[in-house]
Amino acid sequence: MIRPLLHFLSGSRLAKKFVLNFPLARKVARRYVAGERLEDALNVTRQLSQQGLLVALDLLGENAVRKADADKATEDYLVMVERVGASGLSCYFSLKLTQLGLDQGVDVAVANLSRILEKAKAHHLFVRIDMEGSKYTEQTVEVFRRAREQFDNVGIVIQAYLRRSKSDIAMINRLGGRVRLCKGAYAEPPSVAYQTRPEVTRNMKDLMYDLMRDGHYPAIASHDEQVIQETLRTVKEYGISPDKFEFQMLYGIRSQRQLELKRQGYNVRVYVPFGSDWYPYFMRRLAERPANLVFFLTALFRG
Ligand SMILES: Cc1cc2nc3c(=O)[nH]c(=O)nc-3n(C[C@H](O)[C@H](O)[C@H](O)COP(=O)(O)OP(=O)(O)OC[C@H]3O[C@@H](n4cnc5c(N)ncnc54)[C@H](O)[C@@H]3O)c2cc1C
Repeated sequence: MIRPLLHFLSGSRLAKKFVLNFPLARKVARRYVAGERLEDALNVTRQLSQQGLLVALDLLGENAVRKADADKATEDYLVMVERVGASGLSCYFSLKLTQLGLDQGVDVAVANLSRILEKAKAHHLFVRIDMEGSKYTEQTVEVFRRAREQFDNVGIVIQAYLRRSKSDIAMINRLGGRVRLCKGAYAEPPSVAYQTRPEVTRNMKDLMYDLMRDGHYPAIASHDEQVIQETLRTVKEYGISPDKFEFQMLYGIRSQRQLELKRQGYNVRVYVPFGSDWYPYFMRRLAERPANLVFFLTALFRG
């Protein structure tokens, strides 16, 4: 019951206004979000880098309603790429195509993404396209294919809960593309997505095998110990060396496990979101673990 409600609230303007009116909400969100300014994100990146962890920076934002908003988000990304390039920090970027105008059409998203990829390439930086709700899957894969024809510094995310993902991965492997595999964070109907946790975990493992066998530096993005253990078992069995793939986890979740894996010699990348538009991201994190909601509400009403 709570999970669907939180997914619904993540898209509600009214709920967003309500939550943003509590200064304490911002404080609680800081568990998952590096801060509102690029400077905050760069500070977190420095700290994580000092611990030997890799970073993917995500400037939070989604669903640019007007073309002007998409252009503004693109400009913000260009500034960020420039700043990170100049800082010498080693990290890459994650972005959402709806931020770059996917709602205005594939051509708009390809044009804006290409500008970012061009600049990132000049700084030897990599850009990952996040995957959003299933309404956007086909278009997102299409944008990736078109971008990949021109750029090799672009990768994509595939969600294990989607029934179509096995064939998407086979196609991307053939293209030589880099995949981040995650379970999927949106509320999806049974017609397109597996609904139960065991089914999703089973498919995640199956897709992980496909990526380890035929993929190109895949990223296994999960905090699920079952998935992590199966990945470790698989790479040992196939004799895959630790420099051929990476683990990824979200900022603020299982931080100790991130460091343990790093100490064992594996590449671990932390996804670090920042920016003022943190509300939908924060609500998706609450939906993944409704126990966090109790903590959040207690803090809110104590505050
Ligand atoms: C690097 C990265 C990038 C991602 N990019 C995308 C994307 O582009 N598109 C997309 O749809 N999804 C994305 N996700 C989210 C992903 O789809 C899942 O929703 C999320 O990772 C939870 O699934 P899990 O595999 O960690 O397993 P789960 O079974 O959900 O969680 C396993 C365990 O992890 C811990 N945990 C998980 N979530 C939380 C939380 N919020 N708070 C506290 N503990 C928690 C708990 O101990 C839990 O028992 C990304 C995830 C990561 C790690």
